[in-house]
Amino acid sequence: MNTERSKRLFDRAKALMPGGVNSPVRAFRGVGGEPLFFKSGEGAWLTDVDGNRYVDYVGSWGPLIFGHAFPPIVDAVTAAARSGTSFGAPHPGEVTLAELISRRMPSVEKVRLVSSGTEATTAAIRLARGATKRDVILKFEGCYHGAGDSFLVKAGSGVETLGLPDSPGVPAALARLTLTAPFNDLGAVERIFAERGGEIAAVIVEPVVGNMGVLIPRPGFLEGLRALCTKHGAIFILDEVMTGFRVARGGAQERYGIRPDLTTLGKVIGGGLPVGAYGGRRELMSLIAPEGPIYQAGTLSGNPLAVAAGIACLEALGSPGAYEKLEETSRQLCDGIEAEAKSAGVPLTVNRVGSMWTAFFTPHGEPVFDYASAKQADTARFGRFFHALLEEGVYLAPSQFEACFVSLAHGPREVDHTLAAVKKALRRL
Ligand SMILES: *Cc1c(COP(=O)(O)O)cnc(C)c1O
Repeated sequence: MNTERSKRLFDRAKALMPGGVNSPVRAFRGVGGEPLFFKSGEGAWLTDVDGNRYVDYVGSWGPLIFGHAFPPIVDAVTAAARSGTSFGAPHPGEVTLAELISRRMPSVEKVRLVSSGTEATTAAIRLARGATKRDVILKFEGCYHGAGDSFLVKAGSGVETLGLPDSPGVPAALARLTLTAPFNDLGAVERIFAERGGEIAAVIVEPVVGNMGVLIPRPGFLEGLRALCTKHGAIFILDEVMTGFRVARGGAQERYGIRPDLTTLGKVIGGGLPVGAYGGRRELMSLIAPEGPIYQAGTLSGNPLAVAAGIACLEALGSPGAYEKLEETSRQLCDGIEAEAKSAGVPLTVNRVGSMWTAFFTPHGEPVFDYASAKQADTARFGRFFHALLEEGVYLAPSQFEACFVSLAHGPREVDHTLAAVKKALRRL
């Protein structure tokens, strides 16, 4: 495979940008080698600058639920751009997107649009702290809630891949306000609440974890967190930046029947443009400026292009059968991967919820349900698998600890191409 142009671009990039990238997980540190540069994407396929083509399972890390350059989104963005790229003042699209979100996610009674998931989670925590007049937050080991200071404690994903459990630059005094518990361990959360319940402003959780690879909540876990928050007067925040409108029409909260106090959103609601949102109970959201005293603002919040993309994406997701198709394609793919692994005699376990999935190379195919069990996975073996697939024209997330995504542009052709590549790759491990 010729990747000369990518190599040359990466050399230039490294001289100018930290690690040659604008976000750490892009740098291939989790799998070795050098990142590819892409020139275009169409549907489920990506084309790199040397002209190699790949079936894409990164989907820009989650937003591209319709694949690349989905015509309704491209048209909506183009039309919006012709009418002005930013007003810094209210415009109709903001209302439409807010209505779409709130209608599909009834717990989101009021919403504030922002420009990234990180902004959304950072603001949600500030709101929880301001509303409860408490400072401590509880998160789960391996969960990622964006790059905000309070969250860079056992934070999964990029941080996990790079082996930085905490980041320098986060004040120790602030990190001490972030408690962590193992995902899926309700007993541990009960013990923490028994000891410090009166100090805890919020529990924040990825309802389906995507940032330690995919972890599935055990029956009763999310319900238990909801009940503990209610009992102790803490705000329950579902971080649905990845799962929102991805794992069901109304997000993970619909899929698992959980009503959080606050929800954070991003990725799919922007259809590939920079959008985030946080929202929830009306009286909580009314504490946000200018209605209330808790400050949060953004020059490009509710940007017309981003909002137009989000509206086009959510409207298209409203068409009948969209989630059934995602489920079916993803099931065929993941069942196929498991079958190929079995016939190759390679131990592997696949976690999947809807169109989010991770194949973990645990030593004997043991199940993965929390940080510790995920860490059993053989990352060197994953790296070899990743590169073998790349050679065969399949682009997975470049880390064992990431979710892969199926889009509505993926179909039988892409699944067949992928499974043929998986068969070859597993025999080369
Ligand atoms: C991606 C992600 C974020 C951060 O969103 P950005 O837009 O990258 O800032 C937060 N929480 C979860 C669960 C995510 O998957």
